[in-house]
This record gives sequence, structure tokens and C-alpha cells, in this order.
Amino acid sequence: MTDADAVIIGGGFYGAAIAIYLAKERGLKRVVLLEREPKLLCRASYHNQARVHNGYHYPRSFTTAFRSRVNLPRFVRDWPEAVKQDFTKLYAIARRNSKVTAKQFERFCYEIGARIEPAEASLQKLFEPRLIEAVFLVEEYAFDSTRLAAWAQKELQESGVEVRLSTRAMTVARDAGAGLQVTTLNENGDSDSVRCRYLFNCTYSGLNQLSGEFPGTKTRLKHEITEMALVKAPSALEGLGVTVMDGPFFSMMPFPARGLHTLSHVRYTPHFSWQDESGDDPYRKLQEYERESRVDRMLRDVGRYMPSVLDAKYADSLFEVKTILQKNEGDDGRPILFEQHAELPGCYSVLGGKIDNIYDVLEKLETEQFENVAER
Ligand SMILES: Cc1cc2nc3c(=O)[nH]c(=O)nc-3n(C[C@H](O)[C@H](O)[C@H](O)COP(=O)(O)OP(=O)(O)OC[C@H]3O[C@@H](n4cnc5c(N)ncnc54)[C@H](O)[C@@H]3O)c2cc1C
Repeated sequence: MTDADAVIIGGGFYGAAIAIYLAKERGLKRVVLLEREPKLLCRASYHNQARVHNGYHYPRSFTTAFRSRVNLPRFVRDWPEAVKQDFTKLYAIARRNSKVTAKQFERFCYEIGARIEPAEASLQKLFEPRLIEAVFLVEEYAFDSTRLAAWAQKELQESGVEVRLSTRAMTVARDAGAGLQVTTLNENGDSDSVRCRYLFNCTYSGLNQLSGEFPGTKTRLKHEITEMALVKAPSALEGLGVTVMDGPFFSMMPFPARGLHTLSHVRYTPHFSWQDESGDDPYRKLQEYERESRVDRMLRDVGRYMPSVLDAKYADSLFEVKTILQKNEGDDGRPILFEQHAELPGCYSVLGGKIDNIYDVLEKLETEQFENVAER
């Protein structure tokens, strides 16, 4: 049995950043971070499209677009070594089946204050004009999650956070002395428990898989098994990121962690989805899934819009569970989930819909009171 001021469950970007914040900015002395995998930031924080959002992606959710505009400059300031800016970013609007027209998209960009201009002719030529109405040059970046992981590792060590890898949190319950208690199971099958005053559940797809007295989140979640193909872009597309909006289309973004591009397609990236249920472990579902790639279908469809993509060389695919809030299924918004569980005082659940939302979480934490157990 260990005593801690705070336990953070989940060593992704959110869990790591919150642990560092509590230790460094809020002065909590004993912070323990539990991660079921043998490495930090190796799940959704690695298996994603690596886009530092700047609003363009969200014409149907003004709040998410606006928050992205606020958070991008902060993210670039705080993690400059992890942000790739040296590529040309294009957003194109499809003529058919698009939920926005080029005019509406331009107006939306002006409304959120995001830079947009018509792409030069040499870039327009990359697209099939029968299918694409307009191509715009925009300002959007990519992040290297391996650099975020290196940052997390160094900061956790310097701020004295105890990191327990290959350790899974199993149950959460009230504790008469400390307030809360977490039981854990490590890779050798050894169980342990940690008593703490504060507990942060930052387990993304696993948010509702803790047992004991954990009440579950009030916000309903949806999970998708997703495939992001990794390709070596042909020379014509090498220095580019491309997104075709807004409907059953695709994105091709630099993936700095591998020096490749990710290819995602609205129709083929989600393999299947289901509503969240306690006891129906999304990680196990992914582990048992056969993972048959749909890259051929992705390339075939993307090639209709951008013929040069057909020369891309497939490397492999990133499969991951993507977890979103059910209420945003229609508008594609990506707000944070931040819940304090009244049934378990001191226990919080956090889900960041995208990487730069960390600032929305930190803003919430600023208004919370935290005290060291030793000082009570
Ligand atoms: C396909 C896809 C594409 C995306 N594209 C983008 C994008 O382009 N831009 C963007 O900003 N965001 C994107 N996102 C969203 C982004 O990846 C997430 O918002 C972010 O990574 C969430 O970080 P996290 O720390 O909450 O989750 P994670 O990194 O998944 O961390 C949660 C951690 O908790 C651990 N864990 C789970 N249960 C337990 C337990 N019981 N005990 C101990 N540890 C546990 C897991 O192993 C994991 O390491 C994308 C996500 C996906 C899946």
C-alpha cells in the first residue's frame, strides 16, 4: 500500500501533462502515474493524424473551431520542438456530397479569423477539377508525438512523479483515511493499491472500464476502431498536407514521428463503432480485431480526386480505438470531457477530444483547490 496526494491513471499526453501540472504548478508532492502499456504516449496520443488543429476542420462546430484558434498558438509556443510547420497545407472543397460550399468555407474561415487564400495554379493542378470546386492554402501544422513523449518523460522525472509502467488500474473506491483508493495489477500479475486524495482518470477509451465504486461518466461515449494508413508520399505530394472537406472525403497529413504521411478516409478509416458500456473493454476489442487493411479502397477513392496519390507506397497502418462524445456525432465537435464525480470526492474523469484541448483542461484545473495530504 502506497500513499499519494494524487494518482493519475493513463500515461497518454493528457495523463502525463496533468501529472506534470499537479507536481510542478500546484506543488503536490507525491504524484503517481499509472500506465498499462510498457511506454508512455503509445496509444491514441501516438496513433492519430498528428494535426495541430487551427479551426478549418470544424465548419459545423464553431466552438471547437474557435477553441482550436485560441489553443494552436499556445501549443506551438509550449512544444516548439514537437511542431512541424515546414509543409504546405491545402484544404479543398468537393463539388458533390460536400456539406459546405467553397463560399461557405471561406466565410467560415473569415469568421474564425483563420488565414485562407486560393492555392496557386501549380497546386490546383494536383486535383481533378471535375470533382473539386476550390483549393485553398491555409495555415495548419503537424505534431511529432515521439517528441511529446520525450518531453513527458523528462518533465515527469524532473518533477518527481512516480511513473509505474505496465501497471493497470483495476478498481477505484472510497478510503476512510485518504479519501480514495486505487487497486492495480502489473505485468507479473502482482496487485497493489495506492491511497490518494485526488484521482484523475485519463484513460481515453478506457474511461468507463474501472470497477469498484467508480460511477462511470455522465457523458455518453462512442468508440470506433480506426485505421490510419501510413504511406510514403510520391514526390509531387511530399511537402504537402491535404484535406478534402466536408463529407465522405479524406486527409493526407505528414506524420513526423515516422517521416511518412497518414492517409485517412471518412468512409474507410472507421472500421466499426459501438456505444460505450462498462465491462466491454475497447482495448480488448481492438486486440481481438483481425485488422485487415482498407488502404486499397482509400487509395482508389483518393486517386479520383488527386491522381498522383496512386504513386504512394503503402508502409503499414495504425489501428486504434477512437473515442468521441456521443453528443458530437452530428457536428464533429471535439470538446473536452471534464467530470468531477460527486459520488467519489476528489475523483475526476478527463478526455481531450484532440491534443491541443489540453489547455481547456488546464483552465478547468486552475479553478480547483488542491492540498497536499501531508499538510492537512
Ligand atoms: C484515429 C485518430 C485520429 C486522431 N487525429 C487527431 C489529430 O489529428 N489531431 C488531434 O489533436 N487529435 C487527434 N486525435 C485525438 C487524440 O489522439 C486524442 O485526443 C489524445 O491522444 C488523447 O490523449 P489521452 O492521453 O487522453 O489518450 P491516450 O494517449 O490513449 O492515453 C490514455 C492512456 O491510458 C492508458 N490506460 C487505459 N486504461 C488504463 C488503466 N485501466 N490503467 C492504466 N492505464 C490505462 C492507455 O494505455 C493509454 O496510454 C485522433 C485520435 C484518433 C484515435
